[in-house]
Amino acid sequence: MSEELTRAEQLKKELFMKPVNAAKACADGQIKEADNFCEGYMSFLDAAKTEREAVEEAVELARANGFIEFRKGEKYAPGERVYYNNRGKSLILAVIGRRDLAEGVHITAAHIDSPRLDLKPNPLYEDSELAYFKTHYYGGIKKYQWTVTPLSLHGVIVKKDGETVKVKVGEDDGDPKFVITDLLPHLAANQMKSTMAEGVKGENLNVLIGSRPFDDTDAAENVKLNIMNILFEKYGINEADFLSAELEVVPAFKACDIGFDRSMIGAYGHDDRVCAYPALMALIDAEAPEHTAVCVLADKEEIGSVGNTGLDSSFLNYFICDLAEASGLDGRDVLTRSKCLSADVNAAFDPIYAEVSEKRNASFVNRGVVITKYTGSRGKGGTSDASAEFMAEVRAMLDGNHVVWQTGELGKVDEGGGGTVAKYIAGLNVDTVDLGVPVLSMHAPFEVVSKLDVYMTYKACFAFYLN
Ligand code: MN
Ligand code: MN
Repeated sequence: MSEELTRAEQLKKELFMKPVNAAKACADGQIKEADNFCEGYMSFLDAAKTEREAVEEAVELARANGFIEFRKGEKYAPGERVYYNNRGKSLILAVIGRRDLAEGVHITAAHIDSPRLDLKPNPLYEDSELAYFKTHYYGGIKKYQWTVTPLSLHGVIVKKDGETVKVKVGEDDGDPKFVITDLLPHLAANQMKSTMAEGVKGENLNVLIGSRPFDDTDAAENVKLNIMNILFEKYGINEADFLSAELEVVPAFKACDIGFDRSMIGAYGHDDRVCAYPALMALIDAEAPEHTAVCVLADKEEIGSVGNTGLDSSFLNYFICDLAEASGLDGRDVLTRSKCLSADVNAAFDPIYAEVSEKRNASFVNRGVVITKYTGSRGKGGTSDASAEFMAEVRAMLDGNHVVWQTGELGKVDEGGGGTVAKYIAGLNVDTVDLGVPVLSMHAPFEVVSKLDVYMTYKACFAFYLN
């Protein structure tokens, strides 16, 4: 029996948009590839929980794959691979393309900082014979999520003589961990009546770090002294050395599979290592790109891309100018002809909290990499809003390279909003659009992504480099 489509059915098929999802990737045999790719990603997550560690890991991966340190003034040949390490906290990598630099470069930009708790400059204190670190939260967090979860401490202490001490405690088997305590329900009647924003106060995010006194005397600050003594013996530091330190408190757990089907990954800091890693690996795998391919791994996105390691600074601009000058070109002419995928996460539709999303324009887990034309809040405030022309180019590129992809907006109109590094790169007169992985529980200590979506982000970046 033959099946005749009615005119309406035929037209529907031709004219309506059809969302593509994991089933398509299953048919193409890409699920296995995605699982394999994510093994590497999960190792990267565990090794790189801070921006400094991410730079170290990325440099190591890059060097192992033929990247050498960039030298200003040098003219590089097609296929040559360079990196520029900006203060150990942000990184630019490039593979020189076959086409003339005058035709512009293809940039992917992701950030490698994540929401966390930073130690205050003067963090150590004792109260009621318990020792604590005071913290100041970094980025947008729901404070209550950071209590009663195992924590680790990462970062550097720079002594007055310039010696840098690296700190990483709470990650290795056998390491102690740290925690922020919370009130027992029996005595939490008042706390439970407060709003979720106020139930746990920022000033109370104090990390428990010890309880034993230095000796058997009842002298004041005996527990604090014991901790300071342990730190002196281990790192050779005194209390004043905390003034010149960057110590970050992050969740102590490792990345793991989520679900009986192992289709997802739960971890700290997917935002935005989940785009940084695919962008980096795509560049490493881009042997002979058409245009010069550039990957930027930036710091400070979570607090507004500020500072000299964030993308509101000029380090990317300077790098492109240096590349351009070596070829006798003006940096601004190269930038004007360049294109950028601002690789950052979007909020995955969560059926438990469906009311904050608009389903026709939300991104979904397992529907592939998400293109976000604009982010921002209210009337598109604080975004760069990619042009129709560039959106058309990106659509064609993704379809042409069999990438499973979708579009998304960050929540309903006026529900809230957010931003990415897109506007800073667009501000250099580069055609820019946001592209990345949909995330569940974004900015929580434990975020969830789909392995397929991570892999599709890699495929999208790879296609963009070879385009
Ligand atoms: Mn982000
Ligand atoms: Mn974020």
